[in-house]
Amino acid sequence: MLPTKGYAAHEAGAALASFTFERRGVRPKDILIQIRYCGVCHSDIHQARDEWGGSIFPMVPGHEIVGTVAQVGAEVKKFREGETVGVGCFVDSCRTCESCMKGLEQYCEAGMVFTYNGLDKDGKPTYGGYSDHIVVDEDYVLNIPDGLSLEGVAPLLCAGITTYSPLRQWGVGKGHHLAVVGLGGLGHMAVKIGRALGAEVTVFSRSDSKREDATRLGASDYASTSQEGTCTRLARTFDFVIDTVSAPHDVNAHLDLLKTDGTYILVGVPPEAIPVNAFSLILRRRRLVGSLIGGIRETQEMLNFCGEHGLISDVEVIPISQINDAYERVLQGAVRFRFVIDMASLDHEGL
Ligand code: NAP
Ligand code: ZN
Ligand code: ZN
Repeated sequence: MLPTKGYAAHEAGAALASFTFERRGVRPKDILIQIRYCGVCHSDIHQARDEWGGSIFPMVPGHEIVGTVAQVGAEVKKFREGETVGVGCFVDSCRTCESCMKGLEQYCEAGMVFTYNGLDKDGKPTYGGYSDHIVVDEDYVLNIPDGLSLEGVAPLLCAGITTYSPLRQWGVGKGHHLAVVGLGGLGHMAVKIGRALGAEVTVFSRSDSKREDATRLGASDYASTSQEGTCTRLARTFDFVIDTVSAPHDVNAHLDLLKTDGTYILVGVPPEAIPVNAFSLILRRRRLVGSLIGGIRETQEMLNFCGEHGLISDVEVIPISQINDAYERVLQGAVRFRFVIDMASLDHEGL
């Protein structure tokens, strides 16, 4: 067993605090990773507050992990000690179902093993990236392309793949108008990736305060939804909408942004159901689709794509001691655009 230092929520909604625990020892196909940076996803907050139900405590959140290979098991073939690697939202799956065989492990029929707030195949709780080390089977570990700053790479492991996967699946590209609703961690990656795929991007945000950032990120237009009539004015102008909003909101107003045959991609996961008006869909044969992160193969493809295009996340690096303040700022929509924890700061925790 490997003694590990981290930060955990001990019950729903409790402030995160330092925590020591044990990880499994390195098995023949495992890699021991020394974690260097871990991004702070809104899903961490939903789960640490048990907003989706079924949370397991104590919980060590974190599924946007980059680090250095510290040790490899005897049968590991894909990685060597000292390499820079990444881990995303899951660390195992059944490997035999139709979804797994297609490289869509995120839709595993038996249920993937979440990086945290899950149970591994031995029935033990999994602990995530707000910690100094993690042990993961090599088949669920990603290569990080050279030349990208590591703190900016960490959020690609969730925010990056969650936006890349549906944009690719639905064929977003040149000549398309894409609306990105909500300019947070996922939203800002949707702008960057949508733009890199050739689409023209418009950001829909609650206030005017992110206008300049949106332009800098690559958006060609910006709409503030707090201004009355914004969605009506832009009705039927988009081929795609990607909705990254974390709280209940008026999806019908945004569905009306779509042209006939347009596609509404829901990736945000508000804790409560969102009402959809049938007329918002049927009158223009619109599609409402959802998407969950991405499989290992596609996550690697996304990382390589980001390497080729020099795409990383805009981050604010924090020591782990500031994690609870960071959560508050995420909830206020006041982060530009992802907090990333510098895991070296755990050394100062005196654990
Ligand atoms: P985030 O950084 O907090 O961004 C969410 C954005 O939504 C905010 O920046 C804000 O944008 C907007 N927003 C927040 N509250 C709102 C409200 N009441 N009404 C309208 N807009 C509001 O969160 P994130 O990390 O990007 O995650 C976004 C959501 O995606 C979360 O629910 C998360 O759990 C989910 N998620 C899903 C997947 C998946 O696989 N499908 C993966 C990761 C995360 P503005 O300030 O611009 O208005
Ligand atoms: Zn996430
Ligand atoms: Zn499976």
